[in-house]
Amino acid sequence: MNTANSPYVKRDLAHVWHPCTQMKDHEQVPLIPIRSGKGVWLEDFDGRRYMDCVSSWWVNLFGHSNARINAAVRDQLEKLEHVILAGFTHEPVIELSERLVEVLPAGLTRCFYADNGSSAVEVAVKMSFHYWRNVGKPAKRRFITLSNSYHGETLGALAVGNVQLYKEIYQPLLMDVITVPSPDCFEREPGESWADHSRRMFAHMEETLARHAGEAAAVIIEPLVQCAAGMRMYDPVYLQMLRNACDRHGVHLIADEIAVGFGRTGTLFACEQAGIRPDFVCLSKGLTSGYLPLSAVVTTEDVYTAFYDEYVKLNAFLHSHSFTGNPLCCAAAVETLKIFSDDNVLERNRALAEHMGSLARQLEDHPHVAEVRQRGMILAIEMVKDKASRAPYPWQERRGMRVYRHALERGLLLRPIGSVIYFMPPYVITPEEIELMVTVAREGVELATCD
Ligand SMILES: *Cc1c(COP(=O)(O)O)cnc(C)c1O
Repeated sequence: MNTANSPYVKRDLAHVWHPCTQMKDHEQVPLIPIRSGKGVWLEDFDGRRYMDCVSSWWVNLFGHSNARINAAVRDQLEKLEHVILAGFTHEPVIELSERLVEVLPAGLTRCFYADNGSSAVEVAVKMSFHYWRNVGKPAKRRFITLSNSYHGETLGALAVGNVQLYKEIYQPLLMDVITVPSPDCFEREPGESWADHSRRMFAHMEETLARHAGEAAAVIIEPLVQCAAGMRMYDPVYLQMLRNACDRHGVHLIADEIAVGFGRTGTLFACEQAGIRPDFVCLSKGLTSGYLPLSAVVTTEDVYTAFYDEYVKLNAFLHSHSFTGNPLCCAAAVETLKIFSDDNVLERNRALAEHMGSLARQLEDHPHVAEVRQRGMILAIEMVKDKASRAPYPWQERRGMRVYRHALERGLLLRPIGSVIYFMPPYVITPEEIELMVTVAREGVELATCD
């Protein structure tokens, strides 16, 4: 069928290699060229609209083409597009750093910038390793990570992650890490509370820390929600126990808030729900409201001081990216934080999250839904082959893909992870749009599980 979309699809498929995609799928699955976006809606060249229920891969916070972010980036563009951040500085990066320090847990005072989430993880990993060298403990060079964790795709970030689909093939290229079973509460025993399960699973971490403290630089975790693993969640008590144990054993704690930061879990940062302060926090995605690529690693005076020395001692952190701290990106990020403080975003989100939860929980009774779980503005519906045993559908059946295709026909961008359908919408979504989102997801579940 020839439509206004067609020429773009044809030109795209001639040269563009898409991320995280088996390109052959596009023989069957339509590629959708987007002409414009406004709020939660994307529009293609045929004028068809799609509700962006996944915030364009978890990045968008306040809708597409947001008037305030647009204006902030436009203003900055008229002043300065970019400048080297070594030896030079600019107002947006200064203001952003001040604001980040103000809203992050107390004690996180030093901001280092990169331009994507994976690079932020690389920075945190290198900094932790380098810190221990600088303070005379070079044996501490290994990293402890959770099963099913995700920290990005570059080799260091891939190494400290644990989603086998992305990792396994590259294993020969990756550094060796210590992997501890995740507190993922989908795995809890019948009748066991989330807190009890998370507490019980901590025994593995405690034991690992006790055994490896001498060679461990840091534990890296995604606080509260392991998003790429299919929005698997755990209780804040795990983070409290982890902070305590890291202190006792002299091991850094790296909190990867790249996906969960900026209000997704109900608080501005997920770590707040445990009342903890990590040694490093990694931020990206929502940092610029999903407008521009920017990431930050924010750390403590203790870490910063360990690098502060005479040049000839070679203790400096000689890491950079060409676009480190780009002014346009920082301007978008500053405006993002202003919106949070001006507009009572977190409070408004509480009502939206409640609405989303109360509607979606009706799916709990479905014979092929094992769990409907939620933390703030992240909600997941896990489809299984057998409800009683929670036996999953074989991945080869690609049940989630059926939901994806159905949703597209209904004008929604819902992009399940395996058999997990999830909502992570921009915060400008309305209650009526939430109702449509849940309705279409329910239809998708029916369709995907009917045989
Ligand atoms: C997306 C993500 C990353 C990687 O960020 P990129 O910008 O895609 O490199 C790292 N950690 C978590 C938790 C993420 O969700």
